[in-house]
Amino acid sequence: MNQAELISIGNELLSGQTLNTHAKDLGTALAAIGLQLVRDTTIPDDIPTIGSAVGEALGRTRLVFASGGLGPTVDDITRDALATMLGQEIVLDGATVATIAKRYAARGRAMTPAAERQALVLENATVLPNSVGAAPGQRIELAGEKTLFVLPGPPGEFNAILNEEIIPWLRERFPDARPKLLRIVRTAGIGESDIATLLESAGFQPARVALGFYPGKGRVQIRISADPGHEREVDTAEQTLRGLLADFLDPSS
Ligand code: AMP
Ligand code: MG
Repeated sequence: MNQAELISIGNELLSGQTLNTHAKDLGTALAAIGLQLVRDTTIPDDIPTIGSAVGEALGRTRLVFASGGLGPTVDDITRDALATMLGQEIVLDGATVATIAKRYAARGRAMTPAAERQALVLENATVLPNSVGAAPGQRIELAGEKTLFVLPGPPGEFNAILNEEIIPWLRERFPDARPKLLRIVRTAGIGESDIATLLESAGFQPARVALGFYPGKGRVQIRISADPGHEREVDTAEQTLRGLLADFLDPSS
């Protein structure tokens, strides 16, 4: 199963201080290579909550991404929570220490113990270099073909490690995965409930095709998606839909 879950960790995400952008970025990046983000859970910086949320996700899903809480401050406790939950030691990654020290030296500063803490990783982790920040990502392969990815919270760092290290690895691991087929029909001048009535009375219920309705600003976007191999079903659904909604197709699109 090509499915993934995201556990976003951070008090600031729940208090309304920070908009959680990881689900959008991860969902888009995975969909592009034919993998699916199926659940996004946001939790506080709390050791038992992190352990249970990540453990439950690993029980359900093959690929689990945990983000946030890898920084140098006392509230950054993700690695401790994961080490306890997985029964692994935390070790200092020498290569990461050297990279962080080099960055400090380039600014004429000596590395602090707090900065060095960001080089702590789980003992079984493959370290994923962070090209834009200090704390590296980690890939931890577990029993049952499960993989846990651990990523820093800042979106620039999350996306750099995702795109530079993880997506290439996933492409190799899932060579047969293909993105879903997608068609978009844009309407204007008709509301969602009137579209529903129109489609229901026409008996429009295409098989093997999923429909999504995205209303906004007087327009409704209808997304038709299907698994690869169902081109004909998608074509037919799109043509039928365009016929039924002929009077309401968005002229500006
Ligand atoms: P952390 O790695 O938890 O110390 O987070 C460092 C910074 O990244 C903070 O400024 C957070 O607000 C931001 N951050 C963490 N998680 C997310 C997220 N899911 N979406 C957007 N920003 C985040
Ligand atoms: Mg945090």
